[in-house]
Amino acid sequence: MIASLRAMSRWTLPPDRIPSAWFNVAPHLPEPVDPPLHPATREPVGPEDLAPLFPMELIGQEVSTAPWIDVPGEVLDILKLWRPTPLVRAERLERALGTPARIYFKDESGSPSGSHKTNTAVPQAFYNAKEGITRLTTETGAGQWGTALSYAAAQYGLELQVYMVRASYEQKPYRRIAMETWGGSVVPSPVDEPGHPGSLGSAISDAVRDCVGREDTHYALGSVLNHVLLHQTVIGLEAKEQLELAGERLPDVVLASCGGGSNLGGIAFPFVPDEGVRLLAVEPLSCPTLTRGRFEYDFGDVAGLTPLMPMYTLGHDFVPPSIHAGGLRYHGDSPLVSSLVKAGRMEAVAYPQGKVFEAAVQFARVEGKIPAPECAHAVRAAIDEALAAKETGEEKVILFNYSGHGFLDLSAYDDHNNGRLPEEQG
Ligand SMILES: *Cc1c(COP(=O)(O)O)cnc(C)c1O
Repeated sequence: MIASLRAMSRWTLPPDRIPSAWFNVAPHLPEPVDPPLHPATREPVGPEDLAPLFPMELIGQEVSTAPWIDVPGEVLDILKLWRPTPLVRAERLERALGTPARIYFKDESGSPSGSHKTNTAVPQAFYNAKEGITRLTTETGAGQWGTALSYAAAQYGLELQVYMVRASYEQKPYRRIAMETWGGSVVPSPVDEPGHPGSLGSAISDAVRDCVGREDTHYALGSVLNHVLLHQTVIGLEAKEQLELAGERLPDVVLASCGGGSNLGGIAFPFVPDEGVRLLAVEPLSCPTLTRGRFEYDFGDVAGLTPLMPMYTLGHDFVPPSIHAGGLRYHGDSPLVSSLVKAGRMEAVAYPQGKVFEAAVQFARVEGKIPAPECAHAVRAAIDEALAAKETGEEKVILFNYSGHGFLDLSAYDDHNNGRLPEEQG
């Protein structure tokens, strides 16, 4: 006989329980979000301004106030290859910390590209293909978004041109190789300044410039925009159902790392209507957009080609130091996330990378999983929330998003393990 399990610690859902509609947070915001403005005229942008960049279905989702938006069957067919993703209780971590808190994480690391980004790459590729577009351009930092979109483009037979931040292109070849394996073409950015290390903002400029010149081409963005966060809400919707299976009512706190805000929005937005559930954004101290930025209209890119968006920003010419969590090095943030922070519905905290890697190593040793450096920010905050509960004796329920694995980021762990991470100022 097989030994019986002492207790469940991992909850899965059958494939037919994958959410068939995305959750739109727009009708649930405490304050409405101001519209994006045209970079030249500073008038609100209309659908016709965005049509050279995005398919009409995505432009519609960008401004929709409908509470739910159906996921097309063709998209579900692909998402079902790895969704629903598991919800895991980190019991070994709880024991190691000696906390009365119950810590759950939603594991998004099992997607084809190893992160949550595939959840939006698939619908974006689908809507473009459906509109007759045959080629996409995009930017990528460390390469997570580029790999997710390369995979998705391959599913619908689209060509893909990726502009990769040069510093990563030169130092981190593995994600480039993955992109090329799925059929994407990758060039280092900025394309016209060969000595420049680049930034996400400058790579966006390159990708937009390439797109606007061609009829057959659209542009795809992996975070920040409303439709991207919408697509990620499958994470929080599944987690809600799985927490119920685990016998929990609602979590006390939901948290995730925040670069542009997509994995955070994905897990947290379905909990916005639930009063009393704290929502927490975790960012790097070296790029502290929500904790130290200003709320104002700013461009999404360095060159000022994108619409101006109302968001927390460090300034579109801010070049963050090159920390290992490349996916969190963005000067701005999602307008939806920014609006929730500004209204006091969401909190934000920032950590230096040394503290983040300490938490990641502790997590890896007890739970076995090695998180991406971006994801490790959420692990750090989850551990600190659990330690705070130990002080007060509170049995709180913590839910965090495990946004991706760190198997292509092991050189960052090598730097940490051998004392080569630079100290940051708090
Ligand atoms: C890109 C990325 C992030 C940060 O991006 P968001 O849009 O803020 O979610 C976090 N974790 C992983 C693993 C990523 O690849």
